[in-house]
Parts: sequence; C-alpha cells; structure tokens
Amino acid sequence: MNVMKCPADGKPLVAVEHDSVEVDWCPGCDGVWLDAGEMELLFDGRERLVQWLSGELSAVARMEKARRCPICGGKMDKLAARGAGEIVCDRCPKGHGLWLDQGELAVLLEHGHPSPGGEEVTAWLRGLFVE
Ligand SMILES: [Zn+2]
Ligand SMILES: [Zn+2]
Repeated sequence: MNVMKCPADGKPLVAVEHDSVEVDWCPGCDGVWLDAGEMELLFDGRERLVQWLSGELSAVARMEKARRCPICGGKMDKLAARGAGEIVCDRCPKGHGLWLDQGELAVLLEHGHPSPGGEEVTAWLRGLFVE
C-alpha cells in the first residue's frame, strides 16, 4: 500500500494503531485522517455523522480550495459541523473517510456518539490528540 499524503500539506501521514483501529496523523500540521470504519466507531450510525456535518458553510470556507482524498485522490467536500463553532471537515464523496485539521478531532470527539465498542477508541484518541 502506498503511503498516504496529508491533504493539507502533502507530507506523508503516520499510521497510529490501537488494537485493530488505525488513524493516520500528519506530523506537519497535526491533522488526522479517519477512514470509514473509524468514523462508524465514533458515530453510531451514518445518520448521526451526516446530521452533525450538516451545518452551513461560511463564505470563507466556500472559497477554500478543495482538498484531495488521500485514498482516491478525488476532490473532497467541505462540510461544516453543527453547533461546533467554525469547524469545517473535508469528506471524500466516495466515502473513504474524513479529514480533520488540528483541533477538530477534539470537537468531533466531544460531539460524537460512539457505537458499542467505540467508547474505548474515543478514549484512546482523546488521550493521544486532546489531552
Ligand atoms: Zn499535514
Ligand atoms: Zn476517496
């Protein structure tokens, strides 16, 4: 498998593992890539994630250049999170995953609804990236 590149600055992402869960972290900008499986663990059901990411994009966010999915290279959609201030995530429309800039993972963990078995992963991520 090719090394994934950071969608923000192109640096190689570093895989961080815990049991069978793996997140990809950028040492350059401190952003984190969550793939589809990890998103499911952190959000019980796709509906919840979709709902959380249905906030209104600001004019500034709309002007930003689209980032590329580290898996397929396609342009990602910008999605604003609801009730979380100005956080804008990038999601691959093909469902490969979600990119979170520095600090955004902390907000996601706060608003997430872990699925059964996802609490431990949430705690692990919090310990790694938030505390
Ligand atoms: Zn980066
Ligand atoms: Zn993709």
